[in-house]
Amino acid sequence: MNWEPWTGCYKISDGCTYCYFYGPHAKRYGQNIIKRTDKFDWPIKKDTKGEYKIKGNKVLATCFATDFFLSEADEWRKEVWAIIRERTDIEFLILTKRIDRFLVSLPSDWDTGYDNVNIGCTVENQMLADYRLPLFLSYPIKHRFIACAPILEAIDLTSYLHGVEHVTVGGETGREARECDYDWVLNIRKQCIKANITFWFKNTGSFFKHNGIVKKINPFKQSNMAKNLGINISEEKKLF
Ligand code: SF4
Repeated sequence: MNWEPWTGCYKISDGCTYCYFYGPHAKRYGQNIIKRTDKFDWPIKKDTKGEYKIKGNKVLATCFATDFFLSEADEWRKEVWAIIRERTDIEFLILTKRIDRFLVSLPSDWDTGYDNVNIGCTVENQMLADYRLPLFLSYPIKHRFIACAPILEAIDLTSYLHGVEHVTVGGETGREARECDYDWVLNIRKQCIKANITFWFKNTGSFFKHNGIVKKINPFKQSNMAKNLGINISEEKKLF
């Protein structure tokens, strides 16, 4: 399930070039206009019986079509932290390309982090990995993951996996997407095995290089194709 308390974003790094937000969604809502949505307080909305409309034990992907740490949302974020604090029975996954704004509006009781918040730092190339990940690791966060998506080149994460629980890798989607080389994906997987953390190949991207051949992959088949390669490492597999 996705929760988008606000909409709108703008590009800040190479991986943003063909962001899907700049597709039909942007045409409808305006791409650079940052606005609160009518789902702003969705996790704490109650029904006529006084029960939460969203039941507990769920994972909510938060701000996956915008960025949680946009400066335009600094005031709203205070309310969102309070919502997250109230729903300790929901796990909030927050993915960002603006990890360097993490400390800006943390709630006063954050301390070492909330148990139900899982922060994902996106890095699409080595330069951004070397800039964002040392910052990411220096912040007080209880649960961390890295998203190499869209992956744009081979990335060495080995110095940054300590204290990270999981890595996700995905290719870029779109007519002009840049290719995703399977060797880059396998290499990151190897780094995860060595660090004993979980790994997930989420999609091949539109142009997938496998065994030296680049193939164009339909957007609706990219996730299945990645899954069928059978390289994901789950919690269970990690034990073996
Ligand atoms: S930060 Fe994320 S949502 Fe914003 S433009 Fe970049 S890829 Fe798109």
